[in-house]
Amino acid sequence: MRQWNSWGDSATSMAIAPTAQEFLQQLLGVATPLPDATLEEVKARVPASRLPSNPMIHTDAETRIRHARGQSLPDWLAMRSGEFGVFPDGVAFPTSSAEVAELLALARKENWTVIPYGGGTSVVGHINPLEDARPILTLSLARLNHLIRMDHSAQLATIGAGVCGPELEALLKPHGYTLGHFPQSFELSTLGGWIASRSSGQQSLQYGRIEQLFAGGKIETLNGTLDIPTMPASSAGPDIRELIMGSEGRFGVITEAIVRVSRLPEREEFRVYFLPDFASAEAAVREIAQQKLPVSMLRVSNAEETRTQLILAGHKLAIAGLEKMLRWRGAADGKCMLTVGFTGSQGKVRYAITEINRVLKQYDAVATGRTLGNRWQANRFRAPYLREALWKLGYAVDTLETAVDWPRVTSYTRDVELALRTALTAEAEPVLAFSHLSHLYAQGSSIYTTYVFRVGKDYAETLARWHRLKASASKEILKHGGTISHQHGVGRDHAAYLPAEKGEQGMAVLRALAQHFDPDGRLNPGKLLLD
Ligand SMILES: Cc1cc2nc3c(=O)[nH]c(=O)nc-3n(C[C@H](O)[C@H](O)[C@H](O)COP(=O)(O)OP(=O)(O)OC[C@H]3O[C@@H](n4cnc5c(N)ncnc54)[C@H](O)[C@@H]3O)c2cc1C
Repeated sequence: MRQWNSWGDSATSMAIAPTAQEFLQQLLGVATPLPDATLEEVKARVPASRLPSNPMIHTDAETRIRHARGQSLPDWLAMRSGEFGVFPDGVAFPTSSAEVAELLALARKENWTVIPYGGGTSVVGHINPLEDARPILTLSLARLNHLIRMDHSAQLATIGAGVCGPELEALLKPHGYTLGHFPQSFELSTLGGWIASRSSGQQSLQYGRIEQLFAGGKIETLNGTLDIPTMPASSAGPDIRELIMGSEGRFGVITEAIVRVSRLPEREEFRVYFLPDFASAEAAVREIAQQKLPVSMLRVSNAEETRTQLILAGHKLAIAGLEKMLRWRGAADGKCMLTVGFTGSQGKVRYAITEINRVLKQYDAVATGRTLGNRWQANRFRAPYLREALWKLGYAVDTLETAVDWPRVTSYTRDVELALRTALTAEAEPVLAFSHLSHLYAQGSSIYTTYVFRVGKDYAETLARWHRLKASASKEILKHGGTISHQHGVGRDHAAYLPAEKGEQGMAVLRALAQHFDPDGRLNPGKLLLD
C-alpha cells in the first residue's frame, strides 16, 4: 500500500549500510531523529469539508490527507510532523473526460478551486492546497489510466493521462512498444503529470524528454475542450502543445494524451566506467553528446558523488577490491563514475559500445564490465526509498537541479556545492553535497545536486535550515544563468524565480494565457505564477 507520509510502497525499503552510517556520523555528526505524527493524529486535525455532498467527491479525512502534499522536503516535514496546514476539502476520481468537464463546470458554478493531481510526486509544491476562501477540490486522474487507441503505423498511443509509469509500460508492452520515459519517480508519477511539469526520463538521450513524446491530446478547460491533433511536424504558427507542456494544471486538465512510442529494444545494458577526474569525465561526455553517438543514457557523478555512492553501496570488501583495481589503473582519489546506457538492436548496441570505448580510451577511462551497471539498473527506481532510511537516522536529504551551457558546467557545480556546504555555517552545521550530470545535450548539461544535513532540534528549525539551503543554491543557479528547473518544474517553490528566467514580456504572455483559460484563478492558483 502507498505510504501516506513518505515515498512509495510500504512493502519496499532500502537500508543504509553500517559503513555509510559511520561515514555520515563522521561527516555530519550523530543525529537525533524527529518524532513522527501518526495517521490517526493527523486525521483528528482535518477540518470539516466546505464542499457540499456529491457522489463524485470523497470528503473523508484520510483521502484528503493522502492528496494534500507532494514529495518536496517541506512536504515531507509537513507530513512527518502532522502540521499539514491546508487540506483539500475533497477529492474526486473522475473516470472519463466527460466527468472531468462536469466537475469543472460545477467548480465554476459553485465557486470552487480545482487542483489537478497526477501521482502527487511533485518536489516543488505543485499540488499543495493554499489558503483560499473558496472550497478546494483536488481532482485525481488516477482512474483515467487506460489505453484508448494504438496506431501502429504512426506509432502513436492514446492513453488516459492518469496512468502511472509501470501501468503505462504494461499497456504498451503487449503491442511491442515502450514510451521510454523513465523518471526516477516512474513508480508513481503519471503521464499527465509528466506533460504538465515538463518531465525528463533517465534515457532522454535516446527517447527524448516529454516534449518530444507528447504528440497531442484532449484537455478539459474551464472554457471547454481543447483538442490538439497530431502531426509529425508543422510550421503553422506557434505550437499549442507548448502551452500545455509545463502548464502545471493552470490552463486545463489533460485527460487523454497521444504519445510517440518506440519499438521495444532488442537489447539493453548499462555499463560503468571510471575517469581520473571531473575535467576528463566532463570532456568525455561532452564529446559523446556532440558526436551524437547512439547511447540512451550518460550519467557522470562528480568525485564527491562517486565517493559517497561507493560508500553507500556497502559491500566493504568488494568495494575495496574495486578501489584497488581502479587505483592501479589510474583512477584514484578524485575519480568520477560514468554510467552509460546502450539500448536498441543488437547491431546498434555493438556499434555504440565500440564507439564509446574508443572515445573513453582517449580520456583514460577504466571500464568495469557489467556488474555495477546491472546493479544500477536493478535499483534505478529504488533510490528514493533511501530518504526514509536517512530520516530514521535523523538526516534530511533533498535534491535540486538546473541546466547550463557547457562553459558553465564546472563552475556552477563547484559553486552550488560550496554554497550548500556553507549555508549552515552560522549554526556550525556541516552539509554533504554532491552532483551528477544526467541529461546531456550538445549545448550543455543538466546538473543534479543532492544534499544531506542533520535535522534540527524540531521541525521548525529543520524547515528553516532547508529554506537557507534552497535560497543559497537558487542564488547560484541564477548567478550562473541556469534554468530554475531542468525537470522538476516551477510549482510554488520556484515561482518567485521564474521572472528572472522569462523576463517581463515572457511573464506577461504567461499571465495573459492564465487569464484566457482561467480568469477567476480557479485552477491550481498560486502555482507556476504567483497570483
Ligand atoms: C523521488 C523522486 C524522483 C523524481 N525523479 C524525477 C525525474 O527523474 N525526472 C523528472 O522529470 N521528475 C522527477 N521527479 C519529479 C516528479 O516526479 C515530476 O515532476 C512528475 O512529472 C510529476 O508527475 P505526477 O504525476 O506525480 O504529477 P503531480 O505531482 O501530481 O502534479 C504535478 C503538476 O502537474 C499537474 N498535473 C498533474 N496531472 C495533470 C493533468 N492530467 N492535467 C493537468 N495538470 C496535471 C498538477 O496540477 C501539478 O501542477 C521526481 C520526484 C520524486 C519524488
